[in-house]
Order: sequence, then C-alpha cells, then structure tokens
Amino acid sequence: MIYLDYNATAPADPEVIEAMKPYFNELYANPSSIHTPGQKAKQAVEHSRAILAQFLNTRVDEVYFTSGGTEADNLAIKGLAFSRNKRKKIIYSSIEHHAVMNTCKYMAKFGYEVIAVPVDKYGVVDLDFIRDKIDDNTLIVSIMHANNEVGTIEPIKEIAQIAHKYGAVFHTDAVQTVGKLRIDFKESGIDMLSLSGHKFYGPKGVGALIVKKGLRFDPLLHGGHQEKNHRAGTENVPGIVGLAKACELAQKEFPQEEKRLRQLRDKLWREIDSRIPEIQLNGHPETMLANTLNISVKYVEGESLILNLNAAGIYASTGSACSSGSLEPSYVLLAMGIPAEVAHSSLRFSLGRWTGQEDIDKVIEVLPGIVEKLRAMSPLYKK
Ligand SMILES: *Cc1c(COP(=O)(O)O)cnc(C)c1O
Repeated sequence: MIYLDYNATAPADPEVIEAMKPYFNELYANPSSIHTPGQKAKQAVEHSRAILAQFLNTRVDEVYFTSGGTEADNLAIKGLAFSRNKRKKIIYSSIEHHAVMNTCKYMAKFGYEVIAVPVDKYGVVDLDFIRDKIDDNTLIVSIMHANNEVGTIEPIKEIAQIAHKYGAVFHTDAVQTVGKLRIDFKESGIDMLSLSGHKFYGPKGVGALIVKKGLRFDPLLHGGHQEKNHRAGTENVPGIVGLAKACELAQKEFPQEEKRLRQLRDKLWREIDSRIPEIQLNGHPETMLANTLNISVKYVEGESLILNLNAAGIYASTGSACSSGSLEPSYVLLAMGIPAEVAHSSLRFSLGRWTGQEDIDKVIEVLPGIVEKLRAMSPLYKK
C-alpha cells in the first residue's frame, strides 16, 4: 500500500509506541496521586513537558497538554474570550482549519465581530486587509502557520507584529508545521500555538497549546487542578509520553527529512506535470510545506481520482479529511479564487517518513492512465 495522506494523519512511529507501552499497565498510576507510582507518572508528564519546551524553545510553564489540535484551537480562542471579554473583535483567515474557523464563527453568537481575512491565489493572507481591520477592540488574530490542504506557509512573524501593535493576541494553528519546520516560540512573536501529536508520528488524541507566560485564559473544562487549573481531567499519560517522543524523533531528523521529502515531492510534480496535460499546482510555488502537493486535474472529479488511485493501492485525498465525502468543493481552494469546477478536480498528495522513491515512481506510472481513462468519459474534455 502507498499511503500519501500524511496531512490527514500519520502512523505512530514504532519508537513512539514503545515509549508509551509501560504507561498503560505498569506505570499506570494517576499523576495526582501522592504515592510513589503516582509521582512516577507525574515525573513522566513533567519530563515530557520539558522535552516539548526544549523542542519549541518555550518555557516549561508555557506548555498545556490537550486532547489534540482541535481542543488546543478551541482553548486558545474561547479561553481567551472568556477571560478578557472587553475586546470584541476576532480576526482569522478564510483558509483556517475548521477547528479555528468554526470556533471563531461560534463566537459571533456571543456578540463578537468575527472577520475572515482573504488570501491571494497562492493562499497567502492579505496583510493589508488585517492592517485595515485590526483595532484596539481586537481580541485575537488567529492565522494558521501552514495550510493543511495546499501547504502554503503564512507570514506569521509579520502578522504577530501587526497584532501586537494593537495589543491583540496572536494565535497560530501550527498543527501542520510542528515536526516539519523548526519553530522557535520565543523568537517567533507567537502568543499562542496549537499542535497535535498524530500529525507528526505521535499518537492520536493528544496535543498541546503553548501560551506565552503571563497571558491569561480560562479553561474549557472545569474540574480538577491538572495543567495549572487550565485543563481539568486525569492526564493522558501514555499520550503525553508519546507526544514527547515524537518531538525527539522530529528533532533528530531535522533538516535532512525536509530535504528528502522536498526532492520526492518536486519529482512527483515535475513528472506528472510533464505527462498529464491541463493540470495545475495549487498553493505557493516556493513558500510551501516540503511534503505537500495539491493539484487540479481539469475535467476530472477529484473524488473519481481518489477512488481510482485507491483501487491501485494508492491512498491520497482531495484536500481536507473533514470535507471528504461531501460534494462541496474545497473552501480553501475557493478562497484562493480557484473556479469551482477546477476546485472540484483537486487532488492532494502528502508525503511522510515512510514515503520512498518507489512510492513516487508508482504514482507517476499509474496516474496518467487513470486521468486518461476518466477524461475519455468526461463530456467536458475535448481532445
Ligand atoms: C489535523 C488538524 C487539526 C486538528 O487536529 P486534531 O488533533 O485532529 O484535533 C487542526 N488544524 C490543522 C491545520 C490540522 O491539520
């Protein structure tokens, strides 16, 4: 099988699984218990927190473990709104993951003015639009670090500067970049950062929100005193240990892995572009994640491509996992100004740790035939 859907999720690394194992049935005690096994579990959580802090160059007390990227995004936006509710404007981008977008839209119910920033044809947010809309009433600017569908990397340093000029908080959903790009939280100007374990070879159901020291926010879940009263509930100890191991592994493979994936991805694009007429690249040609390739194969439905590739043992995506199964074209591609019919023909390959040369060669061999077959059946395609 050829798995090319790493932006949807990645398999846990065997080393991650090994690191987690003892915490299910040997070191299973509750970290809040004061007996010896409880304290051992607590040490494991705190050691993991230190690894995350070192990995992202944050302080240990800036790391809050969550159940994943979605919770981290919700915690950032709602937690901030609940704790300092004088400012009533929320700015986010029109290509945010649903975890941010739907959270922002929901806040409109509570009297917030929520503003979506447009993007250009490459998926880069319009900085002048932000400068125009932001004011002293702005609570938070939430712009993702890199987009999951097209891979475009956003100019977060500039956005942070704009936000700070007005005393607004800058949050970034870095779920697609943590583990792929080096991130220096202190240097970046980011106030809040969301990450998720399963997008970089850690387990599913665990993530973290990094919050700049001194920034107040309320919990979403009330209960025990875990995570310094910011996230109640018994810690997911195996998950947290696995997340930390994923960080260690990512650190070890920087920057060679990025280079390897970029070469494979570039080859895939070059070869299919030369073999298949009327296809286009979606996303930024340079400022883009090394592992992501989003294309539109004109006159063919993306869904049909996925199903035909699937039959050949190649697993790709039309864009976001969340919108698969719906017949709506990708809102990300539409926001980039791509016509609906071209957006409908999108196909995303996302590569990862176990993608090899032979996998790419297989796609190059198989895809042109699939496209030819589907186009032959398409009433829109004229030879
Ligand atoms: C996957 C993803 C999320 C959601 O993370 P979960 O851990 O699956 O909840 C949020 N944002 C982006 C950009 C993602 O790719």
